[in-house]
Amino acid sequence: MTQLGLPDDIHACLFDLDGVVTKTAVVHAAAWKEMFDAYLRERDGEDYRPFDAAADYDEYVDGRPRADGVRTFLASRGIDLPDGEPDDPPGAQTVHGLGNRKNELVLQKIRTDGVEAYEGTLRYLEAVRAHGLSTAIVSSSANCRDVLRSIGAEHFFDVRIDGVVAAERKLPGKPNPDTFLAAAEDLGVQPSEAAVFEDALAGMDAGRAGRFGYVVGVDRVGQTDALYAHGADIVVKDLAELGGTE
Ligand SMILES: [Mg+2]
Repeated sequence: MTQLGLPDDIHACLFDLDGVVTKTAVVHAAAWKEMFDAYLRERDGEDYRPFDAAADYDEYVDGRPRADGVRTFLASRGIDLPDGEPDDPPGAQTVHGLGNRKNELVLQKIRTDGVEAYEGTLRYLEAVRAHGLSTAIVSSSANCRDVLRSIGAEHFFDVRIDGVVAAERKLPGKPNPDTFLAAAEDLGVQPSEAAVFEDALAGMDAGRAGRFGYVVGVDRVGQTDALYAHGADIVVKDLAELGGTE
């Protein structure tokens, strides 16, 4: 293992954004809950079963592209909505309409409260780059670039594969490994030479499916066992635990 807490043959690090670099996983969970609860209340009346911001969030939406998150959660409740169009108005009763409503809520919350970075991750990123490893941000978010800019962290990443780039290149999102594989390829390394840093169960699945050299699960909410079950090689609560920052 290196000073960075990684196997010796790792030459690149692929980082998820929400929940790994920024403290936005909580914002996303709250926005999903507000949107789904409004929809379910309208559909089922006052005795609707609310969206669980921990269990439902982890299992069905965290880490997935927005539309996939809508579809996957609704399917868990036996609900099948038409996809609609990507520019459906927020709240329209289609997959994209509900997704756009959720995005509107996230942007509102970010505008009001701002975005905070995890200090341990920023220090780890500095160490990774100082050791000469290359880096990519791999996020399902279409707001990735704005969020990175708002915390002054754009310069930490050699490559960005986010929701915008994935749509352009028609890459299926997490739990498929394609966005991580594209990042490794853009950095000129084999998957076996790259480490994946993720807080989502869908991200662990992507790391395992892509046969990456090392998969680091970041546990911010007490789901260590689930992260291991989904393929983590190691689980930490903060990237500073891996080292590199002495
Ligand atoms: Mg995440």
